[in-house]
Amino acid sequence: MADVPFNVPYLSGAERGYLEEAFANRVFGGHGPFTKRCMAWLEQTYAVPRAFLTTSCTAALEMSALLLKVGEGDEVIVPSYTFVASASAFLRCGATIVFAEIDPTTYCVDLDDVERKITDRTKAIVPVHYAGIGVDIPRLQAMCAPRGIHIVEDAAQALWAWRDGVRLGTESPFAAFSFHETKNIHAGGLGGALFVNDPAFIERAEYIWHRGTDRTKMLRGLTDKYTWVELGSSFYPSDLQAAFLLAQLEHLDENTAARGVACDAYDEALTPLAERGCFALPQIPEGCRTNNHCWFLVAHDNGEREALREHLAERGVAAYTHYVPLHSSPMGRRLGYTADDLPITEEYAGRILRLPLHTELSRDDIERVTSGVVDFYA
Ligand SMILES: *Cc1c(COP(=O)(O)O)cnc(C)c1O
Repeated sequence: MADVPFNVPYLSGAERGYLEEAFANRVFGGHGPFTKRCMAWLEQTYAVPRAFLTTSCTAALEMSALLLKVGEGDEVIVPSYTFVASASAFLRCGATIVFAEIDPTTYCVDLDDVERKITDRTKAIVPVHYAGIGVDIPRLQAMCAPRGIHIVEDAAQALWAWRDGVRLGTESPFAAFSFHETKNIHAGGLGGALFVNDPAFIERAEYIWHRGTDRTKMLRGLTDKYTWVELGSSFYPSDLQAAFLLAQLEHLDENTAARGVACDAYDEALTPLAERGCFALPQIPEGCRTNNHCWFLVAHDNGEREALREHLAERGVAAYTHYVPLHSSPMGRRLGYTADDLPITEEYAGRILRLPLHTELSRDDIERVTSGVVDFYA
């Protein structure tokens, strides 16, 4: 491991206590006491009608595709600059994936490009709040509502982030979150959640979550046995994962603040270099407050980015690139795309470099990172 690792999975310190409690409960199989507590915590804190815990954000996105009955002939618009699951969750149902460009100031999906790509076959749009930077959901909604298009927010990186006084993930019918250990908080390595914000989908969401059965009706005493009523799957995590997650949810403010210490130090030390034109920084839209998920800079070109990355690696600092654009990946090419189809995404993906960011960075670590960048540009 590098001296300054890129990520260290978060621990709040409360995990072991809750795991002990889960052992005492002797309920492990999912939908147990901790799963219910996590779901209630999310529903109350976020003031959303239903939050389903899932095994991953990928699973949450797949659940949304089943809820929307996405199928052949449907088009789903997805930024190319994202994780595989934003597209694969819909492709696996037979949809045509239409890739959109990113805005080269926020690195989130370019809503002008989305608007150009809407057709009468567009079923859903998947905005990704990259690095916890909020996409303008009300503007997207204004495009979608008159045409009957659904929004599925990929909020994998956006837990606890805000835009215009609203928490990300609360404004669209669906929002998918990740509790993978590379995100700010995690459910013992893997996990996710699907917010179902449109009450019209809740009943079917419960069936789909319970593997396609009406088990919820039995649990509420409405029937004495349950049966197969929908196409569902196995979406919920074990109660051990939920116990782990609750121990982290309850420390989210602490987590965000601890990450913020490093972000503020990077801002302070490196903004002057950006002002001198050494590299660019994302322009966080007014009204956005991120969750300090990611701190990245944008070098002039790919060669400079790679040289900086190597320069930092030689100093024991692990800086990472990010997504390989989906449209020009081997799978994207099989879908008929070429690299030239989305030139902005192609270019910026080659220029982004993320600096180490986690809650256990010491002052010395941070100093090592910033001085590494500063002396590269000296
Ligand atoms: C991490 C991530 C995912 C996938 O999350 P998992 O929980 O690992 O399935 C999906 N979309 C985005 C934008 C991500 O960053």
